[in-house]
Amino acid sequence: MKILITDVLHEAGVEFLKKAGDDIEVEASFDISKEELLEKVKDADALIVRSRTKVTREVIEAGKKLKVIGRAGVGVDNIDLKAATERGIVVVNAPEATSITVAEHTLGLILSLARNIPQANASLKSGKWEKKKFLGVELRGKTLGVIGLGRIGSAVAKKAKAFEMKILAYDPYISKERGKELGIEIATLEEVLKNSDFVTLHVPLTKQTYRMIDKQAISKMKNNAYIINCARGGVIDEEALYEALISEKLAGAALDVFEKEPPFDSPLLKLENVIVTPHLGASTEEAQRLASTIVCEEVLKVLRNQPARNVVNMPVVPPEILEKLKGYLPLTEKLGSFGIQIAKGRIKEISIIYCGKLIEIEQVNVLTNSILCGILKPILTEGVNLLNASVIAKNRGIKITEGKREEAEKFESLIILNIKTDAEELSLRGTLVGEEPRIVGIDGYDVSAYPEGRILLVVHEDKPGMIGKVALSLGERNINIASMQVGRKKKGEPQLMVIYVDHKITKDVEKKIAEIEGVYKVRSVEL
Ligand code: NAD
Repeated sequence: MKILITDVLHEAGVEFLKKAGDDIEVEASFDISKEELLEKVKDADALIVRSRTKVTREVIEAGKKLKVIGRAGVGVDNIDLKAATERGIVVVNAPEATSITVAEHTLGLILSLARNIPQANASLKSGKWEKKKFLGVELRGKTLGVIGLGRIGSAVAKKAKAFEMKILAYDPYISKERGKELGIEIATLEEVLKNSDFVTLHVPLTKQTYRMIDKQAISKMKNNAYIINCARGGVIDEEALYEALISEKLAGAALDVFEKEPPFDSPLLKLENVIVTPHLGASTEEAQRLASTIVCEEVLKVLRNQPARNVVNMPVVPPEILEKLKGYLPLTEKLGSFGIQIAKGRIKEISIIYCGKLIEIEQVNVLTNSILCGILKPILTEGVNLLNASVIAKNRGIKITEGKREEAEKFESLIILNIKTDAEELSLRGTLVGEEPRIVGIDGYDVSAYPEGRILLVVHEDKPGMIGKVALSLGERNINIASMQVGRKKKGEPQLMVIYVDHKITKDVEKKIAEIEGVYKVRSVEL
């Protein structure tokens, strides 16, 4: 079997593959052109890349024998996952390879901020001896606010404890019990911002986290606090940060990532209380070695039909089972994604009931995992798949129950998803109409909604004029309504509007609609 490697990979992984057996032939052709790639991939069973090689549909189609594509690292933006999945090609990556390295970099930045190390270094090298100017602060006894308690956030928390820091963490998808296991106090975002001397960000960039640290969030922070970002640039509103650093609301910031990289024209680079590194978080010899060995091991497992851990795109589920579940998988993933986007609070419990025709299928656990993928993918950086989704959910302290019911209302089959958070309970019902996924129930309201596009949900008082007011508010913000439906459970009870729109619904728009008199609840979904 031929394994083609087209980006410079740490030699550890390449050596591992070379020694893997006589059936394995490794061709390392680093930095080849697109034309050469199209030629060489023709007889390759596996392709391993980093971020340089663009694994487009054309490349995937040229690779007639391809079974697996490996990405030595996390992001798979350079691989056409859809094309790979359609061809039954498994894509694997190495999401855990860089966690410790990024956590160590974060600690380095925290110490640098506390003791002005980069500034003092520059000052002394320019011939000055400014002992007084660089008076620092100790970490001992200070509170570190960790936003996003995943792989990197929890590693940072663990290391910061060695400096006798108190840790407060905000992560709406981690239970307080899980926090307890990690020995970390889980708090609200507001509590973390208000009480932390250092705030460090470790969330993925999503609709919810985009500019989560904006002017308003910064205003809640302690005066003279420090902020560190080793996650993704877009998580901080850089203009608001600049203002806060100029006005000395914040004592300093350390940034490894920027909304636009490289950030040469950013005014932040000119501030003395800002420390920057050029997206170096994952750059260590060890992380590169680990990414290389993990991805090479994963690729070999797939070639040898063994279960791989880090499958990005598709189930390693037997084809005959996939055939039976085909059609339901897009529905289940969308139900999950819909659910997580409208749920408020920390998820505690998920229960799924399979009704009607679905009770005959034994492997509904694959559908459950697909729902969990829909729930977890928008909040985790990478690596949730049909095999590991329930393990990841359980590790996060989420209780999962599955049930079956013969009765399926007026449908052939029906899936009921109930989500319980520490703030509310919600319920979604989905089915297939022909082969098309359809959401037929939201919180007890009967609807018939295609789970795609941008959807605004508004629960409001049952009285004349409400539709007009909401439509007007959207119109004023240049948001075009594509279609809508309105329903109620009983006359006089609150109604639900399901509005499909052509434009992005920002938090601000949601807020404005929530302010309309008679509106009880506003949620938005993007599928
Ligand atoms: P992870 O998926 O393990 O953890 C992310 C955590 O964020 C999860 O626990 C999730 O529940 C939480 N989260 C999601 N949405 C949230 C929200 N709205 N509010 C609060 N918490 C939320 O990811 P990870 O591997 O720890 O990576 C974290 C970040 O670090 C990612 O943005 C990743 O891209 C970035 N990263 C940066 C570098 C670098 O070079 N600087 C290298 C690797 C990763």
